[in-house]
Amino acid sequence: MLKKKVLVTRKLPDEAMRLLYETCEVELNPYDRAMTEDEIIEGLNDKQGLLCLLTDTINAQIMDAAKNLKVISNYAVGFDNIDVKAATERRILVTNTPGVLTETTADLTWALLMAAARRIVEADGFMRRGEYKGWGPMLFLGGDVFGKTLGLIGMGRIGSAVARRAAGFNMRVLYYDMNRLSEDEEKAFGVEYAEFDEVLKESDFVSLHVPLLSSTWHLIGERELSLMKLTSYLINTSRGPVVDEKALVEALRSCRIAGAGLDVYENEPEMAPGLHELENVVLLPHIASASVDTRTKMGTMAAHNLIAGLVGELPKNCVNPEVFSKAEHS
Ligand code: NAD
Repeated sequence: MLKKKVLVTRKLPDEAMRLLYETCEVELNPYDRAMTEDEIIEGLNDKQGLLCLLTDTINAQIMDAAKNLKVISNYAVGFDNIDVKAATERRILVTNTPGVLTETTADLTWALLMAAARRIVEADGFMRRGEYKGWGPMLFLGGDVFGKTLGLIGMGRIGSAVARRAAGFNMRVLYYDMNRLSEDEEKAFGVEYAEFDEVLKESDFVSLHVPLLSSTWHLIGERELSLMKLTSYLINTSRGPVVDEKALVEALRSCRIAGAGLDVYENEPEMAPGLHELENVVLLPHIASASVDTRTKMGTMAAHNLIAGLVGELPKNCVNPEVFSKAEHS
């Protein structure tokens, strides 16, 4: 059987690349940078499959130019970078990588939370600059984590993994989600449901775990930040545009909240003006799923999804399964 032609927009971990090379005719982005829209269009010219990243915006124009495209496999659980409606209209399968990055992302959420509360990055810089002249009673006082209230916005896979870790810190965990858990699930995770505003008002740490949708765009803005405690911290490992970053800069600058920990930004790789000058925010370059094991699992999952779709099977992680029909994809 003739190998299907696929475009891979960035080199992935070796195991994933091996799988792809074994089963497909692969065109790989030769550069260590994101491909431009024109490069993607040109690369997709004769391709049936696309393996892309969350930084690739895959719009209707690209899909229209790619006449043979059957499957778009995203190397991420979030798929806000893909116009899924346009893909569905064009009978193109779209897949993502849920589950395999849940625990790694939850770990990093905690790393950000702890770093923001205990001023780890500031203190590290202080040591490196040789400014430590001896123990001081007022040196780098931060916020406590143990025994405090954690508020989760979004209680899906990652939100619940973050909640499980809170038990070790003896925290009260509040959550808001458009879909409330069952009583048994709430008990199992040790969480209490509260309305959105209540979570913001009562929590010492607010952590965001919703997908980016039109309903979650700027979910946290000036109004929401003004509801949070003066001593509270905002942690965002979901998607940048869930937070109005300009309003966050203002809230951090005016100490309307105590601090923040961010892995994602509204206009990546840019940051809102002034954000990088603030000391009460910990800034990471979108690395929540960046462990060797997890990125390898994401890569093999994305490769398997792509290959399954190309050989006429319904991929395990298809976000628009209504497109699927064996005749269309064989
Ligand atoms: P999930 O689908 O399991 O959970 C999302 C939860 O959000 C669901 O329970 C859903 O009901 C809830 N939700 C959706 N819209 C809502 C709204 N308007 N209000 C309240 N709740 C709402 O997804 P997940 O696997 O937990 O991942 C969550 C998101 O985290 C992903 O979509 C992705 O964007 C982001 N993420 C980021 C990184 C990173 O590298 N920083 C890594 C993994 C995931």
